[in-house]
Amino acid sequence: MSQTTLYEGKAKKMYPLPADVSGYPDSCWVQEFKDDLTAFNAEKKSNESGKGACNQKISSRCFEFLGLCGFDTHFVGSLSATKQVIQKLNMSPVECVVRRVAAGSLVKRLGIPQGTRFHPMMYESFFKEDALGDPLMAPVHVPVLAEGMTPQHLNILEVLSVSIFSCLEVLFQACELMVVDGKIEFGQDDAGKWILADEISPDTLRLWTPEGKKLDKDVFREDLGSVVTAYEEVWKRLSDVNIEDLASALKKGLSSKSLTLQCDVMPKSGVLDPEGEAALDTTSTEAQISHITAGKSFRVTYTNVFTGHHLKYLEHMCQETFSNPLIQDYAIQLCRS
Ligand code: 5GP
Repeated sequence: MSQTTLYEGKAKKMYPLPADVSGYPDSCWVQEFKDDLTAFNAEKKSNESGKGACNQKISSRCFEFLGLCGFDTHFVGSLSATKQVIQKLNMSPVECVVRRVAAGSLVKRLGIPQGTRFHPMMYESFFKEDALGDPLMAPVHVPVLAEGMTPQHLNILEVLSVSIFSCLEVLFQACELMVVDGKIEFGQDDAGKWILADEISPDTLRLWTPEGKKLDKDVFREDLGSVVTAYEEVWKRLSDVNIEDLASALKKGLSSKSLTLQCDVMPKSGVLDPEGEAALDTTSTEAQISHITAGKSFRVTYTNVFTGHHLKYLEHMCQETFSNPLIQDYAIQLCRS
């Protein structure tokens, strides 16, 4: 198998598809999970044999489940114990962190007591840059730090991250594990569609048992014992879950705390906007308003776990019901009020 490394990160390596592997489109890569362990921005390093294989199988299962929940993911299939075939994407430099319970850097940064539960869950964006220690990122920073990205893209990543996290909560609840928080990454395909990428594993999620035992990378961060023993326990619980049945139960609707999404519809630039112009006509010259654009908003509330299927249907409604795509643009964001 060809070993030309295209990219090597702290926990994974990327290769081109080897010549002896057939049946996959050229737009695929191989992602290999390493046994290396790093924490605190790589100040603490180690490795444990078998860690990469644990993360490969756990991540595959999470991606398969999320695919069944209607999310677009980069996962194509497992190739070996530590390798999987993935779709090549243009990766965003944003790390999307979702938190249900206060832990880790949030506790250190803001002094929020560990264990505080959040309803709704908390979302934060971080700039993926080791040299800077992956700093917190505000929407205003996005166009400067991430070429081609806009603050509106962060809204899309927030909606996707929160809905993916809700589905992961259901998956891990079925294993009697609580998802405390997690980091998710996305890339864009050639058409600009956002696709879930990277990995979902105990390296990237905090997972606690009902008794408060940690089964994630905190085992390494806090010297709590063998990482592989903890990750194998996660795998054992996960492999007992029937992900097809769980995903179809979710599709039919599992009740959850309500979630409201706001769909804003605005005229495309250059399109006639009589309502905006009429409003402009009512303003006095001293107000010095040069332009008014009139749009409309729709708030849509769900009381079921919000999946990728719901998001796709909402996008369909935005195009077919809420807007006229010839003359209007729409944007979906989480409504927090
Ligand atoms: P924290 O902000 O507490 O460091 O991390 C929150 C969650 O995101 C934790 O589950 C943590 O494992 C994950 N996370 C944040 N940044 C990274 C990262 O750079 N690499 C990995 N593997 N996980 C991260």
